[in-house]
Amino acid sequence: MLSESIVRRRTLLAAAAGAMVAPMVAGRAQAAVPRIYLDPGHGGTDPGAVGNGLQEKDLTLSIALQLRSILQANWSVDVRMSRTTDATVSLADRTNDANAWGAGLFVSVHINSGGGTGFESYRYPAADAATINLHNALHPKVLAGMRSVATVTDRGQKTANFHVLRETNMPAVLTENLFIDTVADANLLKRADFITATATGHAQGIAYYLGLSTPPPTYSTTVDNATVGRFTASSNWGTSTYSAQRYGADYRYANPVLASDAAWFKVNVPAAGNYRIDVWHPADPGYNSATPYVILTAAGNQTVYVDQRANGGTWRSLGTFNLAAGDRDLVGVSRWTSAAGYVIADAVRVTQV
Ligand SMILES: [Zn+2]
Repeated sequence: MLSESIVRRRTLLAAAAGAMVAPMVAGRAQAAVPRIYLDPGHGGTDPGAVGNGLQEKDLTLSIALQLRSILQANWSVDVRMSRTTDATVSLADRTNDANAWGAGLFVSVHINSGGGTGFESYRYPAADAATINLHNALHPKVLAGMRSVATVTDRGQKTANFHVLRETNMPAVLTENLFIDTVADANLLKRADFITATATGHAQGIAYYLGLSTPPPTYSTTVDNATVGRFTASSNWGTSTYSAQRYGADYRYANPVLASDAAWFKVNVPAAGNYRIDVWHPADPGYNSATPYVILTAAGNQTVYVDQRANGGTWRSLGTFNLAAGDRDLVGVSRWTSAAGYVIADAVRVTQV
């Protein structure tokens, strides 16, 4: 497509949107609940960039899922994603979906490759003022989030004629979060705390752009069964992609047994205090009616039983618990139940309250 026709398309789209889409600038109150569209790059048959044992499609999904959790845990926002699993989605389907939904902003999450180091972000070359505001809000907040964990090079705010930036008719920014084929960058991308910090930075940038950012978000983290270094289970636990209600790429399952063989989700609790713990599991009539979730509270272990036959594919609260600070196996899914059916371990979310 010629650049002239691209510019024309953007202009026509902006005109067509007209009064329906008020320009959103930092500090201006929103009339309605903001609609945030998150686009984890690649997926399914398209792994994106690969290197150092990592695939771009997995990292972008991890960051975007955590970003969604942080946004939903801290502000009143609608969040929609181009994919929530390891699915193949075309570029046209992504932008068509965001346009049809009426997204107020669009953030596409990617990992860089080709040799280099650091963080950079992109907007469309002929972007309007609202897009520039989003870019100016997002870029430094993501960088600050990353730098809360490690030293990260700022490669700057750039422009590019990318499909997702060109064909979206709302402010859109694409982030390139370190280089998968550079060992030092890849080592950061393997760290759960770096992924969480990257997601938190994106959330703070989006919130700042929307004028939502006081007070700053409370701590919230999500641990999936695939989160590197944050999940452990014995070989008795199988891995499944059977249910479409799964969180992330897959989940773990085991037969009930009257013995201790828990699958553990490890969380670095930043400070002593009260935290809400939510769990995500796919549901199936063949799953367990009384799956024990064990929580290591400041006052000792506490067990909450969850019927995993129904109400799957969403966050379910186990309650609010007083937790001690520190990094440890915090939530376990125990096999020790006399009820029949597989016990499922998929994802855990911990949010400061
Ligand atoms: Zn990419």
